[in-house]
Amino acid sequence: MKCVKIALIFAMLWAMPALSINGQTTAAEITVIRAGRLFDSENGVFLPARDIVIKGNTIESVGENLPVPKGARVVDLRRYTVMPGLIDAHVHLLYLENPSGGLTAEGVKAITMEGTPLRALRGAARARTFLLAGITTVRDLGNSGRFGDVAVRLAINEGSLDGPRMYVSGPGLSAEGGQFPGLQYNYRGIAEEEYRIVRGVEDARIAVRENVTYGANVIKIYSSASPNPGFLSIEEMRAIVEEARLLSVKVTAHATSDIAIKRAVEAGVDSIEHGYRAEDATLTLMKERGVALVPTYLDSVNIKRLYAIARPARPLTEQELSASLKQRYERLQRAMKSGVTMVAGSDNYIDLKVPQGEAAKRVLFTYHDAGMETAQILQSATINAARLFGEPRLGVIKTGAFADIIAVDGDPVKDFDALERIKFVMKDGKIYVGQP
Ligand SMILES: [Zn+2]
Repeated sequence: MKCVKIALIFAMLWAMPALSINGQTTAAEITVIRAGRLFDSENGVFLPARDIVIKGNTIESVGENLPVPKGARVVDLRRYTVMPGLIDAHVHLLYLENPSGGLTAEGVKAITMEGTPLRALRGAARARTFLLAGITTVRDLGNSGRFGDVAVRLAINEGSLDGPRMYVSGPGLSAEGGQFPGLQYNYRGIAEEEYRIVRGVEDARIAVRENVTYGANVIKIYSSASPNPGFLSIEEMRAIVEEARLLSVKVTAHATSDIAIKRAVEAGVDSIEHGYRAEDATLTLMKERGVALVPTYLDSVNIKRLYAIARPARPLTEQELSASLKQRYERLQRAMKSGVTMVAGSDNYIDLKVPQGEAAKRVLFTYHDAGMETAQILQSATINAARLFGEPRLGVIKTGAFADIIAVDGDPVKDFDALERIKFVMKDGKIYVGQP
C-alpha cells in the first residue's frame, strides 16, 4: 500500500516538471534574452547577436530577431558575450585545506573535528560562490565525509539553497589508506570515513552499488592512492566500470603517474583526473579510447596566493614561479597536441582566502596561459564536460537545453579577463546575477 502511494507521488512529480519537489511552483514563465554575441559551444565559434527564448527552465529557441511572446520578460544582454553556464568537473566543496597543513592532518581534522553536517553547511556556502562566478554545474569528487555532497545537492535541487547543479561521487573508491599517508594502522578506520576502501573484485562491485544507492551520480576511483603507495588492481577497476555501466553512471579516476593512468584507461574509465605525468603514448591511448583528461592546475595568480599564505616569510621568487608554470604549460601543450579531449576541472581545495568559485575559475587562465585558444577553453568548460557527464542538455545553448546561461563583459577572445566580469548568471531558468 505504502509502495503504491510512493509510486503515485513519484508519478505525479514526473508528470509535473514545473513543480519543484518542495512544492514551490516555478511558473513556466517565458524569458527572452537578447545576446550581443553568443558562444556556440558545439562548433567552438562566437556568433553575432542572437535571441534566446526560454520557457521555465528550458531553452525553447535560439535565433536572430525572434519575436517576443506576449507577457515575456526581456533581458537585454546586447552589450555582453553570452555563453552556456560554465562547468567545473573537479571540485571538493566539503573540504578546504589550510595551505600550511597537509592532506592527512587536514583530512583527519575534517573527519574528526569538523564532521559531515558542518562540512555540508560550509560546502553549501562555497557552492554559492561557484554560481556567482558563472559556474552553473560542478562535479564534486570526494573528500566529503559520508555523503555530505549528496545532502548539498539535494538541498540545492529542492530550492533550499542557491548553488550549481551537482554531480557527486560520495566517498572515492580507493586502495588501503585512502590519501592519508602516515595514518597509524590502529586508526585506519579514519581513512574509511572519507574513502571507500576496496578489498577485492566483489567488494569493488559492492562499493559502486553502495555509492549509487546513497546518492552518488558519478563514481570516483583512485587508480593509485597517491600519495599513499597502493593501487587498485586492474580487475577491481574493471569490475567498478562494469557495475557503474549497469547503473548508468560514469567512472573517473584520480591518476597522477603514467602507470596509474594507463591502468585506469585499460580498465575502461571515462576520464582521468590530473594526469600530471602522462607520457605521449598514454595521451594517444586516451584519445584513441575516448577517455577525457581533466587537467587540474593552479594558475600564476593562485600560485602566488598559495605561497603568500603558506610561506609568508619567504615570498615566491620569479624563478620559482616560472619554473613551476613552465612544467604545467609543457604538460598542457603535450596534452593539446595529442588531441585528447580536455575537460576543465579546478581541484581547488586549498583555502586561498578568496571566494572558492572565483579561485576555481582561474584554472581556465592556466589553460589560456599555456596557449589554448579561448574557444577551446570554453568548450572544455561547457560541451566537453557535458559530453563526459552524458547530459546533452548541459553545456550548450540550443532548443531543449537547460537554461543555464551566463554573460561576461567584453570579448574573451581579445581579452580573456572578460571571464572575471560576470554580468549575468541564470541556472535552470532562474536569474542569480543581473537583471531579475
Ligand atoms: Zn581532487
